[in-house]
Amino acid sequence: MNVVLLGPPGSGKGTQADYIQRKLGLIHISTGDLFRKHLGEGTELGSLARTFMDRGELVPDQVTVDMVRERLQEDDVLRGVLLDGFPRTVAQADALADLVAERSEQVDAVVLLEVDEDVLVDRLAGRGRADDNPETVRARLEVYREQTEPLVDYYSVRGTLRRVDGVGEIDEICNRIVEVLRAIDDPSPSPC
Ligand code: AMP
Repeated sequence: MNVVLLGPPGSGKGTQADYIQRKLGLIHISTGDLFRKHLGEGTELGSLARTFMDRGELVPDQVTVDMVRERLQEDDVLRGVLLDGFPRTVAQADALADLVAERSEQVDAVVLLEVDEDVLVDRLAGRGRADDNPETVRARLEVYREQTEPLVDYYSVRGTLRRVDGVGEIDEICNRIVEVLRAIDDPSPSPC
């Protein structure tokens, strides 16, 4: 099963992905983590990504898609992936559809973590990550609204979007997501 976790910065995608990957045996792929790994290793891709990350902007689609394509070629992804932070644009979503189609697979579910904006700003202020200063946070929220939010419609019309309330205890939210995903994995109707 291939799952996308969608939601604004601070909606808890990374935290939830960690829990869910263990529960469902999916491989967690976070493009933010991949970029940070490149940054830490001082690669060329890392320094390119940094210029965008520091401003709260998106790394160009081509660069991001190439990185994801490479990651999806590794053997461990055969059981399915849990994508966190990708896709973030319609072009990336189109590219992802092609990448999974190459393996005769599809994006089975897109879980949208819904969190009010004031909760997001509070959460981001408390994280202490390098790109969590108020200016970058504002830019990232704006970028989300302009470039990533259109994916809500994109996946709605394709029937794969599942809305999940992203406010509450971590366990509680995790259970909501797992419930939604199990229903997709085993769509047999429950007896009347
Ligand atoms: P994240 O850890 O998902 O919040 O990502 C941190 C930063 O990495 C973002 O603000 C972007 O600069 C960059 N990034 C992560 N994922 C993507 C993506 N799918 N497309 C473009 N840039 C990304």
